[in-house]
Amino acid sequence: MIQSVKSVPAFDNKQQYAVIEAEVSAAVLEVLSSGRYIGGPVIDGFEQAFAAYHGVSNCIACNSGTDALYLALRALDIGAGDEVITTAFTFIATSEVISAVGAKPVFVDIDANTYNLNLQQVEAAITPNTKAIIPVHLFGQPVDMTGLMEIASSHKIVVIEDCAQSTGATWNEQKVGSIGHIGAFSFYPTKNLGGCGDGGAITTNDPEIAQRMRVIKNHGQTNQYYYNEVGVNSRLDSIQAVILQIKLKYLDDWNTKRKTIASRYHQFLSKVPGIIIPQELPGGASVWNQYTIRILDNQREIVRKKLQDMGVNTMIYYPMPLHLQPVYKDLGYKEGQLPVCEQLSKEVTSLPMFPELSSEQQDQVIYSIKEVMSLNSTLRTQHSAFNTQD
Ligand SMILES: *Cc1c(COP(=O)(O)O)cnc(C)c1O
Repeated sequence: MIQSVKSVPAFDNKQQYAVIEAEVSAAVLEVLSSGRYIGGPVIDGFEQAFAAYHGVSNCIACNSGTDALYLALRALDIGAGDEVITTAFTFIATSEVISAVGAKPVFVDIDANTYNLNLQQVEAAITPNTKAIIPVHLFGQPVDMTGLMEIASSHKIVVIEDCAQSTGATWNEQKVGSIGHIGAFSFYPTKNLGGCGDGGAITTNDPEIAQRMRVIKNHGQTNQYYYNEVGVNSRLDSIQAVILQIKLKYLDDWNTKRKTIASRYHQFLSKVPGIIIPQELPGGASVWNQYTIRILDNQREIVRKKLQDMGVNTMIYYPMPLHLQPVYKDLGYKEGQLPVCEQLSKEVTSLPMFPELSSEQQDQVIYSIKEVMSLNSTLRTQHSAFNTQD
């Protein structure tokens, strides 16, 4: 007889929706009957709430996190001949927008403990053509923004924070997205503040950049039906804005739950042989969009398969660093050039992580990892003992 194991999903947002369903559906129905689906007070309300949450003077809602980054680069007039430094260990959107404006992405390696930009390498990559740096607060963990801003200001380079995975995270008590010159956020459903569809926002304390981004996101329109430059259509729908404004009220609570889950993973997994858990920098408070461990010695696929058999679903973010992607062949990067992210892309595994993950579910994850890893290390010791005998 096959015993059935309960499956722990890597991500689940249905429970969260059930809690806020009444509030959300009432607000959505109100937008629907208002007849105002684009722009207007609902968008203004969300932008004000999001700006206030971050302690910045401007928030511009837009269509996605990708567009948020794109609009930032456009508003800074970054384009052909310019270089933008970023991490090779991120989602493609971060570098895609650099290419989309005609500039050149310059990839640097990461720190093995935080998965974030290696600041020494950022500084070493700066040339007279460098116009901006895009730090990514990957998996919810803030980059050392003190160190990064020092480097950027000494070279007079602009910093655009990619906060897509880190809404609510802080560096020295300050919200990410309010430390660099511009912050770019995504409301893709799996992000910490996830909408019911696509969405994004940009934060800045610079009124001129804010105004420029507003113009570009609205077809480059300055006065009605008059255009000074080529823009795009990148609006956030009112339905999304009203949902996001409700969810924003719960964000800190949800992030606290993620932090509790991360502490338990830390507590029970830190001494398990064959894996390495993520580290936080002093000063940084991660919001744990992902809890990503490293599985050493080329065992990742075997371990993931065994975990799957025990009902534990895991994900890989990201299996191939960006500098080695076929799309960037022309940039001429070679294997071995950014060794840390190349190594980590073969080791990283993201464990189930969402605010509603129950302690029973988490126990199952922890128990399964311990079981699989100890079995694995026993088998491998036996195997090597056997090999040395012949
Ligand atoms: C999700 C994500 C984006 C893009 O956001 P979209 O809303 O999906 O366009 C950009 N950067 C990072 C690091 C992301 O994780």
